[in-house]
Amino acid sequence: MKTTSGQKTALSLNDRITLASGTAMPPLGLGVFQVEEGDNLTAAVKSAIRLGYRSIDTAAVYGNESGVGQGIREALPENGLGREELFITSKVWNADLGYTETLAAYEQSLQKLGLDYLDLYLIHWPVAGKYKSAWKALEELYRTGRVKAIGVSNFQTHHLEELIQDAEILPMVNQVEFHPFLTQKKLLDFTREHNIVLQAWSPLMQGGLFEEPLLLELAAKYSRTTAQIILRWDLQHGVVTIPKSVHEARIAENSQIFDFDLSSTDMERIDGLNQNRRVGPDPDHFDF
Ligand code: NAD
Repeated sequence: MKTTSGQKTALSLNDRITLASGTAMPPLGLGVFQVEEGDNLTAAVKSAIRLGYRSIDTAAVYGNESGVGQGIREALPENGLGREELFITSKVWNADLGYTETLAAYEQSLQKLGLDYLDLYLIHWPVAGKYKSAWKALEELYRTGRVKAIGVSNFQTHHLEELIQDAEILPMVNQVEFHPFLTQKKLLDFTREHNIVLQAWSPLMQGGLFEEPLLLELAAKYSRTTAQIILRWDLQHGVVTIPKSVHEARIAENSQIFDFDLSSTDMERIDGLNQNRRVGPDPDHFDF
């Protein structure tokens, strides 16, 4: 089965997408936005790793990097895994954008996570006038081997064009809001052309898609849950997806998406649900 851009669709949780850096990125990860530090978070990270997830997506602003780190530290020996088998992402927050500020923010994230490198470090939001100097810091971290891959988040096509003008290294990933009501066709095409992997945040629209009749119809047709239909649609677009849940059954459910194919007609029908509707802030109009 090929993705809509012609690559091979990931066949299992162990499959990897190769970034421009050569870094191997899992096609599915666990998101931990709005999960507070504590047993719930540690347990979710541990469940995910036990169930075969290898990628965790956090951010400085989530305030939970320490808990993610604790979950990782407990999960590794319990599952006989080494650090290098995981793919850990964090993001520099807007207040820390700037060359020296961003270098310092990276060290702080590492310290909280208790790690000595990240697999992916992202600029969280394209704050005007600030993201280019922050990008210089990410390039430095990448060049000196402190981080395996670098990228951005919430960048529209015009932000990427602007960044690319003086970038020495292109972003390897762009993590954006992406789901059947916000299919980001133009951005997806642009990132494919530039060998940037698109990663979907709020892939389930934070629960806002579960009553959509077409998705319910397809769930019945393929004998899957609505969440699985949506996440499979991501994979078949070659989009890396990071659904959030703290419930073990749902974490498991969200990973059982590698053993069925949506037909190309059904992929197009889901694409047709697009309403350019966001659940999160608009990257062209945010004030934080
Ligand atoms: P999501 O679309 O993943 O939805 C999460 C919610 O969906 C959960 O709270 C749960 O209520 C529900 N859910 C999950 N699995 C389910 C299932 N199988 N069945 C029924 N309900 C289910 O929303 P999200 O957390 O906003 O996004 C995912 C991740 O993306 C975040 O945790 C975070 O890591 C990342 N993110 C990044 C940004 C950014 O600016 N870069 C912004 C938002 C989120």
